[in-house]
Amino acid sequence: MGVLSGLEPAKVFEYFEKICSVPHGSGNTARISSLVCEMLNDMGVKHVQDASGNIIAFKPASSGYEGHEPVILQGHMDMVCAKDEGCTKDMSTEGLDLTVSDRYIRAKGTSLGGDDGIAVAMILALLSDDSLMSPPIEAVFTVDEEIGMDGARALDMSLLSGRRMINLDSEEEGVFTVSCAGGVRVDGAVPVLSPLDEADDGNAIYRVSLFGLKGGHSGCEIDKGRGNAIKLLARVMYWATKKYGSLRLSEFTGGKFDNVICDSCEAVISLKTEDTADFESFIAHSDQTLKREFESTDPGIKVKARKICEEKNGRTVFSAADTLNFVRLLCVLPFGVRAMSRDVEGLVQTSSNIGMVATDGEGLHFTCSVRSSYESQKEALAGIIEAACEQAGGHTSRRGDYPGWEFLKESPLRDVLCKVYKEKTGKEPVITAIHAGLECGLFAGALKGLDCVSIGPEMHGIHSPEERLGIESVGRLYDLVRTTLKNL
Ligand SMILES: [Zn+2]
Repeated sequence: MGVLSGLEPAKVFEYFEKICSVPHGSGNTARISSLVCEMLNDMGVKHVQDASGNIIAFKPASSGYEGHEPVILQGHMDMVCAKDEGCTKDMSTEGLDLTVSDRYIRAKGTSLGGDDGIAVAMILALLSDDSLMSPPIEAVFTVDEEIGMDGARALDMSLLSGRRMINLDSEEEGVFTVSCAGGVRVDGAVPVLSPLDEADDGNAIYRVSLFGLKGGHSGCEIDKGRGNAIKLLARVMYWATKKYGSLRLSEFTGGKFDNVICDSCEAVISLKTEDTADFESFIAHSDQTLKREFESTDPGIKVKARKICEEKNGRTVFSAADTLNFVRLLCVLPFGVRAMSRDVEGLVQTSSNIGMVATDGEGLHFTCSVRSSYESQKEALAGIIEAACEQAGGHTSRRGDYPGWEFLKESPLRDVLCKVYKEKTGKEPVITAIHAGLECGLFAGALKGLDCVSIGPEMHGIHSPEERLGIESVGRLYDLVRTTLKNL
């Protein structure tokens, strides 16, 4: 007897428990992929598995639905492995220990992988159901969604003939996601015009730190008005170069991830000793100014300058021209919300974040993350970053490009889902869009005219050991999908 036996819908939870019995963290999906193939074999459902481990299964139309357009059902097989500090489980080799309490399923000491194992289980249950009334189903199980959507990127989408898709990778019951952002990373490098020099005799060296910001996710939290430490320190340093002609940059570093709003940043500078007293009060004044400006969003913000040595101490600095060139570029690189959606209230449409900056003997390096639900705006904003970098004498390259999923004004699939949801619950669903990437974007990019909605059951704390899945919401969601298929 499994831990989940007795829960309804029985088939869904039976498959979910099987999925949880094998390790399936991102990058470690060979076993889950072959397990899903085995289960498809057992139910006699035709399928293909690609070299990455992605699977597409084909269920023919049920009687009466011959000639209906196919429907794609999609979820990802990999999960984020997170565990409590004291937990000794090796998630790369062991399955999960499921528990049921208080109307939720959890995994002891670890994340549950309800994101997105429950989607895989639900789709398997639908495929195995001989009484299902439905158009032909093309079921897509991807790998490695959680590490850059690598599975969906590698998938041969030409195997799919459906142009309507239900993605089951959402985590809030009654919330239907209908658009997501595309994104691209732009890496820039600006070489030095002249080699670094030793700081002049009689110069003091300072470490200027800007820290205490809240940071956050560069997609979901870009509209909170929070400061970016790289941008704010660049602003302070720009004014400092105007005031103190002797100021030379030696280092400028901040940020570890392109998709995180930078919360702290540092510059090391050299300065004529006679300017130091004034410089220190300039920094104190900047600190007060920023504290006032960011009182409500980043109350912990601080700027500090600490003299790290009285003398140059063998430290090398950039020339005056390079110093100004770098600081100017960091000032003009775009950060924050560029456009809000006119279709979905409160949705950020286009944004950018400078996430990382560093200097070395060769010059300045930075990485920006651009997002937009409009492919053309993503392109335009990446172009602005490239142009600014070129103007500073640098060059750029792009990586991690993925397409956005644009909001469709007309979506017959969304209409049916909304109608069925309302009939079942008496409530209107919440229609929303997110300013972050989803696999739906890759499908929408490849399958022209795709009509797609992303839905899911009630989940909390995904990607953490606190993850829990609401049992009853799974039954309601399963029923919603089943009834929707009947009406397509
Ligand atoms: Zn997911």
